[in-house]
Amino acid sequence: MKDCLFCKIAAGEIPAAKVYEDDELLAFKDIAPKAPVHLLIIPKKHLASLAEAAPEDAAWLGRIQVLARRLAEEQGIADGGFRVVANSGADSGQEVAHLHYHLLGGAKLGDIC
Ligand code: AMP
Ligand code: ZN
Repeated sequence: MKDCLFCKIAAGEIPAAKVYEDDELLAFKDIAPKAPVHLLIIPKKHLASLAEAAPEDAAWLGRIQVLARRLAEEQGIADGGFRVVANSGADSGQEVAHLHYHLLGGAKLGDIC
């Protein structure tokens, strides 16, 4: 989608510290990490948020969960514990309007969620 930051990252038009990529999904380091490990997992397909997810998106949405587990292991945070969060919409504080999952870990995380 034109003028979408994460679509531009997915297209390689804006650089990012990528840690995983396939034809449907991309994971990269958050530019302002809120934990020792803070990755973002996105679909390459543009959805503004989870509020736009449809039944036909179920397969790649499921793959995101499995990828989160795999990346948590690779990043060394699987045993200690980690958090996966997808903000959706204004009340959640979502800032980038392209669906993304935060993968956080490597320290004791705060109480919210
Ligand atoms: P949210 O508030 O859930 O929309 O989260 C957006 C996240 O995107 C924040 O944690 C930002 O630090 C992160 N972010 C914004 N711009 C970039 C960028 N160019 N590369 C990597 N992460 C980014
Ligand atoms: Zn987008």
